Amino acid sequence: MKDLITKIQQLKSEKQAIILAHNYQRPEIQEIADYVGDSIELSRKAMEEKDAKIIVFSAVDFMAQSAAILNPTKKVLLPTLGARCPMAQMLTVDEIQHAKKRYPKAPVVVYVNTLAEAKAYSDICCTSANAVEVINSLDAETILFGPDRNLAEYVAEKTGKKIVPIPEWGFCPTHLLFQPEDVTILKQQYPQAVVMVHPECSAEMRKTADYIGSTSKMCKYAKASKAKTFIVGTEEGILHRLRKENPDKQFIIAYADAICPNMKLTTLDRVYTSLKEEKHIIEVPEPVAKKARVALQQMFEVKS
Ligand code: SF4
Repeated sequence: MKDLITKIQQLKSEKQAIILAHNYQRPEIQEIADYVGDSIELSRKAMEEKDAKIIVFSAVDFMAQSAAILNPTKKVLLPTLGARCPMAQMLTVDEIQHAKKRYPKAPVVVYVNTLAEAKAYSDICCTSANAVEVINSLDAETILFGPDRNLAEYVAEKTGKKIVPIPEWGFCPTHLLFQPEDVTILKQQYPQAVVMVHPECSAEMRKTADYIGSTSKMCKYAKASKAKTFIVGTEEGILHRLRKENPDKQFIIAYADAICPNMKLTTLDRVYTSLKEEKHIIEVPEPVAKKARVALQQMFEVKS
């Protein structure tokens, strides 16, 4: 593995490349990355990157697309072409147009976990870190929101607005695996543990939480908290960052098999090949990118 890491580092400097990795990536990928974060942190990094010629985006399709949209002068590479987020495929342009016919005055908010075409048909994007603030920033009481129904329900609870989920049942298959019964059992074993849950989890799972937030917010919360033990309700890749940033604290995944197979498709070998052969280049046609860029930039204007 050492040889491979050295080769990746050499290629990075030869080609003026940086590696961005999502919090759900394998630990060894997080370790070679220049920056590790959640979707909003990585989008911002990609947008602000000035020096690099190549951005290797170790994550899934829609995140690499966002980088290509926000920084079109860079070559954006996705190491594994098959690394697709199933939730992002759930919101089609047809679905948005159909919902707009039913609610012509309602603004369309799309989660960043969407493909570029859906973003292009939206008014503004959001992430799980800023969804509540984005919804509150809109001068509307009824809002079309997709594709994650659980996040839609969570923002409805937080804002008191009517959030219409599009499609009706969009979901993350990995976060759906978390069940409240598992937290009950773990709490018997670790009664002092603080429970942190991602808003993509079900309402029943969210009820078990002491804290609900995105992965970046969980990291901030865990660092600031006096608690020593945490039960974590999100994809297990986050444990690497949590443990690294808090070596004196204990983090237990609420369900050990909550592994996103799409995030785990990226390996060191694939990052190496991606850099060496400069593949797979992610490009978004400019007419689509132009509209999607507006929706993403609108999101960055919202304070969170
Ligand atoms: S964890 Fe869920 S939302 Fe995130 S990439 Fe995997 S399937 Fe998509």
